[in-house]
Amino acid sequence: MISPLPLAARYTRFRDEVFSGLEEITLPGFAQPLGELDVQSLWFGGAFGSSFTSVDGKPVHIVDYGIWNSSAGPDFTGCTVEVDGQRLSGDIELDPDARDWERHSHGANPDYTRVVLHLFLDGPEERFFTRTREHREVVQVRLDATTLPEHAQPNRSLAAARLGRCHTPLSEMAPAHIQSMLESAAQYRLERKSLRLHRYVAAHGREQAIYQALAQTLGYRNNQQSFNVLAQRLPVQRLQKMAAEESEALLFGVSGFLESVRYEDTLPETRTYLRGLWSAWWKQRDAAQRWLQPPQALSWKLAAIRPGNHPQRRLGALVAMLKQWIRISGPLMDAGRWSQEGWRETLLSLTHDFWSTHYTLLAEGATKPLALIGESRVQEMLANVAYPLLMPERTRLWAEYLELPALLDNQKVRRAVQRLFGESAVGAAFQKKLHHHQGLLQVYEDFCLEDDSACADCPFPERLKQWA
Ligand code: SF4
Repeated sequence: MISPLPLAARYTRFRDEVFSGLEEITLPGFAQPLGELDVQSLWFGGAFGSSFTSVDGKPVHIVDYGIWNSSAGPDFTGCTVEVDGQRLSGDIELDPDARDWERHSHGANPDYTRVVLHLFLDGPEERFFTRTREHREVVQVRLDATTLPEHAQPNRSLAAARLGRCHTPLSEMAPAHIQSMLESAAQYRLERKSLRLHRYVAAHGREQAIYQALAQTLGYRNNQQSFNVLAQRLPVQRLQKMAAEESEALLFGVSGFLESVRYEDTLPETRTYLRGLWSAWWKQRDAAQRWLQPPQALSWKLAAIRPGNHPQRRLGALVAMLKQWIRISGPLMDAGRWSQEGWRETLLSLTHDFWSTHYTLLAEGATKPLALIGESRVQEMLANVAYPLLMPERTRLWAEYLELPALLDNQKVRRAVQRLFGESAVGAAFQKKLHHHQGLLQVYEDFCLEDDSACADCPFPERLKQWA
């Protein structure tokens, strides 16, 4: 159908591009071809059933359908499957065709090493094996669409996590008790972070531990490890002894970003910046050569990254932080000098001649300056570096911590809220503060992610009754 509203048509194209790469699938009994997400929703809703026979004849039973994953990686995570009586925990991938596993390079992708079941609707005549990167053979089930019940309808809203068994005791619990439970879980989480950070302080010194932990927060979810390795290879004390342009060139050089950008692909204003970096980098390049070749070269994950979070821009933010290092590290080196307001202000006011107006080395300049480090990043640094470091030395900072608002939109937190509280107003009330998020994450990791029984054997609901 051609839409009479041109903007609607434009939005349709825009919306559907989000799902580009997802195939349309024709299933018996459905008038229109279905999208991959529709087929996934039929699976997740149980329309295909829960007992199957694998392509090599073994009985397969789905104990827990897990979580419908909307990010990169397998379609369903945290699942439990029984194969020939043996219980397996891991992920499930559903493809229109068995060969999609190799067509989409899942067999070489480390994100797919936990896959325990490969589902598909079609495949070649000859046997096709599903193997992980470690050459582990994955159990295969060919789904039979002719067995779908007549009334089966795709329902993408199932992507929201299902309500857990703990929902009932939580809905009967006094808000003060839920608050105390989440606050305790948040404190436990903070204590664990403190222990890890202070172990690192003992091993490498406080300043390096601060630098490395802050660098890691610039990596967001996907590039934390690369920022961590970069900060280990180029310790703060070494960088601080160099001229600012030399340390900047070294960071960009060792990261591999200078080598990976072709000069002729860049814009004139970027070339000026690149020339400056290269003039300092070429003198240091030979000594750093070992870090530029595989397997030592840093591997940056750039898929599905917002321009503002691109690691090149975040590395620019690290450079700006190093230029203000005394002001940034000082309040963390000595708990007596801590001022949350002052520290936050220092980070929010950081600028860089190039990176304050550019997203990447290839992007056009922005029309107005962009914050190098925004409020949500500062909050991540407060939650993962500042408070875990300082809290053991000044426990009264807990009151300050409790007041921090929740700024980050976290998929895991949303799932935890869905499972624990559903759509209730109680769930909304316990998402407002950072410590609520941290407490929810802890419960989610300790109970939901450990559970392989679709809530049946989870001890959390019974323990909740004792909490009150
Ligand atoms: S696994 Fe446990 S904590 Fe998670 S939703 Fe189910 S009952 Fe609740």
